[in-house]
Amino acid sequence: MSNEELNSPGYEIPPELQGQVAVTTLDRIYNWGRRSSVWPMMFGLACCAIEMISAQAARYDMARFGMEVMRPSPRQSDLLLVSGTVTKKMVPVIVRLYNQMPEPKYVVAMGACASGGGPFKEGYNVVAGIDKFLPVDVYIPGCPPTPQALVAGLIKLQEKIDKQSIKQVRWYDKKNKADSVYVPVPVLGPDLIDLRRVDELKEIAAPKPAEENSEA
Ligand code: SF4
Repeated sequence: MSNEELNSPGYEIPPELQGQVAVTTLDRIYNWGRRSSVWPMMFGLACCAIEMISAQAARYDMARFGMEVMRPSPRQSDLLLVSGTVTKKMVPVIVRLYNQMPEPKYVVAMGACASGGGPFKEGYNVVAGIDKFLPVDVYIPGCPPTPQALVAGLIKLQEKIDKQSIKQVRWYDKKNKADSVYVPVPVLGPDLIDLRRVDELKEIAAPKPAEENSEA
């Protein structure tokens, strides 16, 4: 938070307190702490990961955002940076890692592949975007996005965190007990099966009355 922001919080500060006391809201200080120490998971899928690694190095220096130490465990991470092509084989792993992350947690889809399949869209082995399975907070376009684009996407994520209210965030929602988003781990068989769509798939696969008659 800059000095200017502290001195202009959007409400009047009595003259005798100006320059002496910082007055802020609980939401603002809570969000400031979280947005300035997001811990990304050390995780990459394809060529976009090289740009992500570059963004961590000296020239772009993610330490400026408090994001310099990538965590080797989902248990210690609150940002899943999906950087690369999302193959069907990898989706069960990605979803399992996401489920193992504690709340609050965020997902960034980095690049054309993670956002929508990219150059491999409609490929037999590729998922058309990680948002088919996980709730994505920020999409970063490009193939690959430059480190600068990744930094811009992460600043967008910080802006999103800034707008959250401690009264409304899902991980404190005791009323609905919705303390975490759990996504059923998809099953990889001959094809990838999203367990949330089993009923819908059964309905699609069921023979239609006309088909039954023609078979008879
Ligand atoms: S978006 Fe482009 S650079 Fe990134 S993983 Fe896909 S093909 Fe590679």
